[in-house]
Amino acid sequence: MSKVDLHIHTNYSDGRDTVSEVLEMARENGLETIAITDHDTILGVEEAVKIGREKGVKVIPAVEISINYQKKLIHILGYNLDYKNEKIELFFERLNDLKRNHFVSELKRLNSELKKTTGKEADLEKFSASEYLCFSYPGLANFLTQEGIFEKSEESFEFLKDRLIKPSDLIDSEETIAVIHELGGKAVLAHPFAPRVSLKKLADNRKEFEMIIEDFIKQGLDGIECYQAGHSEGETQMALELAKKYNLMATGGSDWHGSFEKLGGKSILAYTPFYPKKLGDLFVPDEIGEI
Ligand SMILES: [Zn+2]
Ligand SMILES: [Zn+2]
Repeated sequence: MSKVDLHIHTNYSDGRDTVSEVLEMARENGLETIAITDHDTILGVEEAVKIGREKGVKVIPAVEISINYQKKLIHILGYNLDYKNEKIELFFERLNDLKRNHFVSELKRLNSELKKTTGKEADLEKFSASEYLCFSYPGLANFLTQEGIFEKSEESFEFLKDRLIKPSDLIDSEETIAVIHELGGKAVLAHPFAPRVSLKKLADNRKEFEMIIEDFIKQGLDGIECYQAGHSEGETQMALELAKKYNLMATGGSDWHGSFEKLGGKSILAYTPFYPKKLGDLFVPDEIGEI
């Protein structure tokens, strides 16, 4: 069992557990240090820090930010940032508006196909007025299920899988890393070798991966996530070697989105093929908690 997990989602983004449920599981499972890394929001952080104090679990203020790198969607983790600074609110407001525009126009584009496939169309206005966390692949899939366009959530995911174009018109990596630094945080490249939302969208061999990482380092990157449920053992090894070579922090976390039963489908395995059965099951060395 690990004592550290620096990559956990809650229902402030696309995770299924509340902050309080995550903290309770962390305590029960022997985790001593965790980071809540919700997508494009720090809304759960303050609550997590407070509950963590009560339960004796250290919570590192963090976030997972969707960025544009060479017109591809990539995730950057920000750790130990000043989450009370008002700049962060403005940054995420701007980012979430960009996501909203993208997903509303995608739904508009897909509506005629939805009609052909299911006989039903999604209500664009209703979707547009949704909470920010709907503006993602799982968010849109859940919306389609909730609206009764598909009966099962797996059908919604399946429909969107090869049709939905991921947003690439977001805030770029350079500006995002600069904002993380301005807020006193560290910027870490999330799951660099996972099947999706990773460097695999830009390259397929180590030499090219290294060139991309060198480019990120020029922009100020501080670390790469090595231990990750999206990585095979070989990929973890490669990430560790690259972290050492470039003197980057090597971080790790499960990318927890809730228990597999709660997730109610296999879609999570497309992102994280080695998804843990329990929070705390993914191996992360203790010293990573000293981030
Ligand atoms: Zn991610
Ligand atoms: Zn994540």
